[in-house]
Amino acid sequence: FSTSVAAVDEATSPGISIDDTQLLIDGAFVDAASGKTFSTFDPRTGDVIAHVAEGDKEDVNRAVQAARRAFDHGPWPKMVPYERSRLILRFADLMEKHLADLAAIEAWDSGKPYKHCIDTEIPMVIRIIRYYAGWADKIHGLTIPSDGHHHVQTLHEPIGVAGQIIPWNFPLLMFAWKIGPALACGNTVVLKTAEHTPLSALYAARLLHEAGIPNGVLNVISGFGPTAGAALCSHMEVDKLAFTGSTMTGKSVLELAARSNLKPVTLELGGKSPFIVCEDADVDKAVEMAHSALFFNQGQCCCAGSRTFVHESVYDEFVEKAKARAMNRVVGDPFRVEVEQGPQIDSKQFEKIMMYIRSGMESGAKLEAGGARFGNRGFYVQPTVFSNVQDDMLIATDEIFGPVQSILKYRDLDEVIARANKSPYGLAAGVFTSNMDTANTLTRSLRVGSVWINCYDVFDAAIPFGGYKMSGQGREKGIYGLRNYLQVKAVVQALKDPAW
Ligand code: NAD
Repeated sequence: FSTSVAAVDEATSPGISIDDTQLLIDGAFVDAASGKTFSTFDPRTGDVIAHVAEGDKEDVNRAVQAARRAFDHGPWPKMVPYERSRLILRFADLMEKHLADLAAIEAWDSGKPYKHCIDTEIPMVIRIIRYYAGWADKIHGLTIPSDGHHHVQTLHEPIGVAGQIIPWNFPLLMFAWKIGPALACGNTVVLKTAEHTPLSALYAARLLHEAGIPNGVLNVISGFGPTAGAALCSHMEVDKLAFTGSTMTGKSVLELAARSNLKPVTLELGGKSPFIVCEDADVDKAVEMAHSALFFNQGQCCCAGSRTFVHESVYDEFVEKAKARAMNRVVGDPFRVEVEQGPQIDSKQFEKIMMYIRSGMESGAKLEAGGARFGNRGFYVQPTVFSNVQDDMLIATDEIFGPVQSILKYRDLDEVIARANKSPYGLAAGVFTSNMDTANTLTRSLRVGSVWINCYDVFDAAIPFGGYKMSGQGREKGIYGLRNYLQVKAVVQALKDPAW
């Protein structure tokens, strides 16, 4: 490996102190009712960054009551939409002002490269907040023709108290995907962060209050899934749930929602997305794109292009180049500007990835690059490439959530369509071809929520995102993301004069 090996032994100072560690309930930062705290760790070293209040059922209940009051009696749902929009825009301006702090906290708590956070990810957070702020005063119903003498209209109303549960792989971006549409529509929110990455959402929530959001409109609970998360899913006063995370937990979220008050649920779950390189593709570009489709964010992406299907005519060339690219990947301390890949989130994910790497080797895939720990501290994994991967190997069926690329060979289009679709997941796909007909055939045949043609991971605020099959239910972002947070009320009024 070419770079930064030494850097992982001496973690650079993030240059920021952590002030926000309590729960945010009803506009105030408070300790957990139990007084308990838990530690959040630096994935570069395993050292404690901060002790954070550990919310559980009682805290969730207090937060839901606050959100309920803010919805039922507060100004928020009834506020002139333009005012709501301006307030959310002020929040975006404040995040921009504190961009460097937000990027440092995010990189420190999650292990993401700081440069990526400050250049791309936090600006995307701000972009999505502005996008949804723009929607606040553009949400309206329809006037509908009637079979009888009636004036018929629909009112699009906020749904109420939204419970939102987010994962650790994009802490602040998932926070923005969740609260953006919910707040723009006039809902109130109780959001539970992932226990690995509680810090950036607390910082951002403080800024939202500085911007002037009324108390109780956004409540943020740090804590664990089976306690705080499950309490939110089961709560009878929560009107809607939105969850991003693993498919297994998603099933439990849906079950808890059904067993309590049948609250509607949107789910954004796991994936095993195919990245298909056709015989006419520009191989160099395809190698680079397939590399970033898999290795971006340490491989911890629900939509990672984790099954790289390559046409047999370009397979050998592709494998050689993919191997060389992986071996050049710059791994190391995420606070160093040249670094492309930081550590995995924690020891559990690290061990899980190493198990999959062993499984790949044992099942007969050919290890082309990596395959081991990187450095001797923290949770770094070498960028790993397997060729000769077969469909039934665990590395081709399971969501690894790490920097492990599996390259599979295929012969013709029908075959690769059938193999790509033979997965319980259906989140995304990449297609690399210079033939428009091939692109069209693949686009229409793949049972996935997003198809990227000659690109990957394009996440504009206006583009919807979500899964087919066990990758989820519903869509986030864009106009589609608003629908999750609105009720439709049909209003039918008899007309006095039948002629009209
Ligand atoms: P997870 O699904 O368990 O956690 C995601 C969120 O759900 C966290 O906030 C967690 O506290 C919460 N949660 C956990 N159990 C819950 C429950 N019973 N009720 C309500 N909320 C609950 O994911 P994980 O354990 O952190 O990671 C395990 C695997 O999940 C990863 O290896 C990866 O494959 C997958 N994952 C997917 C995504 C994604 O974006 N689709 C994100 C993170 C993890």
